[in-house]
Amino acid sequence: MDAQHISIEDLKTYFLGTVLTEGDAAFDGARQLWNAMIDRRPTVIARCRGTADVIQAVRFARAQGLPVAIRGGGHNVAGHGACDTGVMIDLSQMRAVHVDPDRRIAVVEGGATWAEVDRETQAFGLATPGGLISETGVAGLTLSGGFGYLRGRHGLTIDNLVAADVVTADGTLVRASADQNPDLLWALKGGGGNFGVVVRFEFALHPVGPEVMFIAPIYAVEDGPGPIRAWRDYVAEHDKDLAMICEFSTVPEDDGFPRDAWGKKVFALVGIATGAPDAAEALARPLRELGPLVTDFSGRMAYTDIQRLFDAQTPFGEMRCYWKARYLTDLPDAMIDLAMENASRAPSPNTISSLWNMGSAVRAVPAEASAFGDRSMGWMYSADGVWADAADDAANIAWARDSWSRAEPFGHQGRAYLNFPGHGEDGTLTRDAFGDSYDRLARIKAKYDPDNVFRFNQNIAPSA
Ligand SMILES: Cc1cc2nc3c(=O)[nH]c(=O)nc-3n(C[C@H](O)[C@H](O)[C@H](O)COP(=O)(O)OP(=O)(O)OC[C@H]3O[C@@H](n4cnc5c(N)ncnc54)[C@H](O)[C@@H]3O)c2cc1C
Repeated sequence: MDAQHISIEDLKTYFLGTVLTEGDAAFDGARQLWNAMIDRRPTVIARCRGTADVIQAVRFARAQGLPVAIRGGGHNVAGHGACDTGVMIDLSQMRAVHVDPDRRIAVVEGGATWAEVDRETQAFGLATPGGLISETGVAGLTLSGGFGYLRGRHGLTIDNLVAADVVTADGTLVRASADQNPDLLWALKGGGGNFGVVVRFEFALHPVGPEVMFIAPIYAVEDGPGPIRAWRDYVAEHDKDLAMICEFSTVPEDDGFPRDAWGKKVFALVGIATGAPDAAEALARPLRELGPLVTDFSGRMAYTDIQRLFDAQTPFGEMRCYWKARYLTDLPDAMIDLAMENASRAPSPNTISSLWNMGSAVRAVPAEASAFGDRSMGWMYSADGVWADAADDAANIAWARDSWSRAEPFGHQGRAYLNFPGHGEDGTLTRDAFGDSYDRLARIKAKYDPDNVFRFNQNIAPSA
């Protein structure tokens, strides 16, 4: 077939997966993303079943002069997994995970979620650092960094990415590894979905669990910042085994919580204490004794259960969301006070906000090792608006943006975590967010995607 003249009929004929257009019964379901605010109608949805389908879909898009959106797990809050005019390459049917226990490598298809990765790797007593919700896509989370509970000991998800197979903008399959196209591997480690469709990731694995020490004491905001200050100082001393988050939320009307706490603003100090089981339990203990507890969910649990614990709070396609994060140099008392104040005035009971310490393995990686760049920030702050009703959009978006702006004096070199990018509307932020990596990323973009076919992301303009 002439690659220059691929019609939609040609695409359908050769496709193993499904090609969907407006009017097809499955079209609306396929274009839906996790954030209920996103309502985009792609020209074509190419629901791929394998690498050959992805190659064909990219070639079709090029032949039609259409840009490409890539849908991995569909969790991106900015809705980058779908587009209006363009081809949506939907990888949701490509989720296979193969574990090589001898080499301690997992080969993961581009549409897998962390649920598949954790389940398959834990069958061998192994894991690679993912996120905190099992339904999040491996692809999007990895390509912009990847913050999870194991980062203190094993780094960000990108720090464990050893190779990838990528379909680039001209529809060719390219290997990115230390030996082949190392520039592309460097760019994938933080540069987002700018460089092509990753059809397979290869991750390094580490022995984890099956049971680990989960930490989750919950304190009331009204009781003051004491526990957070003590936690900040404690994790600084133990940041190899305690890479955690302090998550602010509102206690739901749920029998799992004490009734007298329902509706209260609280914060949970959440994480996994890594290391030997008894030592991990002892390490967690002081964090559970920092003041009057609302409740405490700490205890030894299966790693895979912890990874699924919060899934029910984040149902696919039901809630409206605006999340925005920035890195912080340190966590002074004034920033803790600000985070508490922001949490107290959140307009929606579903909203969360969080403080994340980096962890020693994250900070140990040199700036030049990946597109993620400099690791000298100590913390991250994220304001995550979550609400149900479209009438409340303006108030909730304003809260998240305002909370994020007020944290600017504590920010780190203007840098931001691009996986919590608001709705991606702050285009000018991209350059600052990438820091010193931006110019090299723009050159690599020009090499692999000179026409900016992959533009539904935190976009890097190609520049030779
Ligand atoms: C409930 C929830 C919990 C989260 N928890 C965490 C967390 O604990 N830690 C953390 O670090 N982040 C977390 N995130 C943020 C998450 O990392 C981002 O939303 C991420 O973009 C989701 O990836 P995805 O594949 O599901 O997204 P999608 O919406 O499918 O894709 C997002 C972007 O990734 C690109 N992309 C997707 N698949 C591919 C591919 N195969 N090849 C190339 N590019 C691709 C696309 O360009 C798209 O722009 C969370 C998000 C949500 C909604």
